[in-house]
Amino acid sequence: MSELKIKNSGDTIEVKSVYCVGKNYIDHINEMNVPGIANEVPDIPVIFLKPSSAICGEGTIVYVPVINGKKISANLQNEVELVIVIGKDAENIQEKNANDYILGYAVGIDFTLRDLQNEMKKKGKPWAVAKGFKTSSPVSEVVRKEEIENAESLDISLKINSETKQSANTSQMIFKISFIVHYLSCIFGLKRGDIIFTGTPAGITKLNAGDKVSGEIQNIGKINVSIG
Ligand code: MG
Repeated sequence: MSELKIKNSGDTIEVKSVYCVGKNYIDHINEMNVPGIANEVPDIPVIFLKPSSAICGEGTIVYVPVINGKKISANLQNEVELVIVIGKDAENIQEKNANDYILGYAVGIDFTLRDLQNEMKKKGKPWAVAKGFKTSSPVSEVVRKEEIENAESLDISLKINSETKQSANTSQMIFKISFIVHYLSCIFGLKRGDIIFTGTPAGITKLNAGDKVSGEIQNIGKINVSIG
């Protein structure tokens, strides 16, 4: 069972489904330009899911899975993201009411095995392994929405060994928070404890063992992990 702590309270929330939006910042779409892989700006959100076992917390050692003594990837990369935490069950939420169903927000890192993801994209196969492995998804404490003035205008950044590699603002998201909540609720329905990774800005970087990775969002906080 994966649980997130709610900041400034003794409360926790159990993570249920983990939804992720891909390609939600233009500068990241541009940097993902890999020959042989279609790379358009999406007109509907690109959605994928992770198992809740992928969720981990502060101080986690993130590692590439090993099978028969061999790492399954040679290219682990960082993606810092604003995470929406759903507070109430609902289906078919209208955009104008989306905020009523949000409990709060957290900082997440959507670690990705980029070589495997690109290989699967080329073959037209699912990316579940590249995105959903154990330790792939550190998430910070949750800050209640009432403590955040405007989640659609927050500085978001990520440092590797104290050097800034990602730096943007959530206002640059192509699909906005209220639309993402509306869209997912119409397709899947949303449950209390569902969380939504909302996409990463540019600055994805190949990580090495021993790297210290720190994601930060203004008014929310930080998540710090290291690479094993
Ligand atoms: Mg991502």
